[in-house]
Amino acid sequence: MRLYNDYLKDKYGCKVHRVALDAGFSCPNMESGGCIYCNSKGSRASYVVPSETIRQQLETRIQYLRKAKNAKKFIAYFQAHTNTYASVDELKAAYDQATGFDDIAGISIGTRPDAVDREKLKLISSYKENYEVWLEYGLQSAHDRTLKLINRGHTFDDFSNAVKLTKEFGIPVCAHVILGLPGETKLDMMATAKKLAKLNIEGVKIHLLHILKGSGLEKLYKEGKIGLLEQDEYVKLVCEFLSNLAPDIIVQRLTGQGSKDDHIAPLWALDKIGTIEKIKTVIGGGQGPTKSFDKSSGLRTEQSRNTKQSKFSLRPL
Ligand code: SF4
Repeated sequence: MRLYNDYLKDKYGCKVHRVALDAGFSCPNMESGGCIYCNSKGSRASYVVPSETIRQQLETRIQYLRKAKNAKKFIAYFQAHTNTYASVDELKAAYDQATGFDDIAGISIGTRPDAVDREKLKLISSYKENYEVWLEYGLQSAHDRTLKLINRGHTFDDFSNAVKLTKEFGIPVCAHVILGLPGETKLDMMATAKKLAKLNIEGVKIHLLHILKGSGLEKLYKEGKIGLLEQDEYVKLVCEFLSNLAPDIIVQRLTGQGSKDDHIAPLWALDKIGTIEKIKTVIGGGQGPTKSFDKSSGLRTEQSRNTKQSKFSLRPL
């Protein structure tokens, strides 16, 4: 496995920054109540102003990243809602706005497995000649009983068929999964990893189950009906999950949390860097946590490094 940032850096010779967008598309599943972990923002990043055009959103964020991080190259990430849920002409207009912008190295398109067809995939594959292109499918779990419980509105077979169709067009696929979903055991989560490995997808984003304001889960959580993972449990699960994936997979995300305004629980999830450091320590690719997270102050404080080595390591493709 390889981390996405390393993969992009090797390919483009510098750090490539992702710029999350809300292109104004909606989501077919929201018409049926939506996934229980999602709110009306449809996974939109907190810095995005949805009333702005794609060009304005890119301009604002790229200007910020150039100034604050000396950023040189960018991936336009169509993140919010379902970014293939429109006509081919509307999709082309949106993707063209993003690719027409200076220093865009590629586009990443987040969508649902039941919202693609040959015509849309043909359009998306047409950008491959000049850009890095990824199609990101929400899956979350390979178990149909869980998909039903979380109201995904599709089955694992729907996902599997979408992946096969996408592969016909040579478009790399990144699957999103959530660890800690209600009713899932460790064995269930590992079975999801093994099923993904069989599909030969190119990338994965691993999320932690967390509670967002305005989501279906919020009420269940407040009624005490939803249990959440502790940080150490999550770290172990991620490491074991990774060990079950295909050896050449590109890992695009290791945890997940909501924006400060929307995130309800668990609070430790807000310490994203600390969680990633712990994961890297266990898999042997990092220096170990150097800071601890204080939930009450929201600050991270120095602590000694953990040099524990792992059973497997990050390695180049
Ligand atoms: S498919 Fe995505 S945007 Fe739609 S309800 Fe589910 S998580 Fe939200």
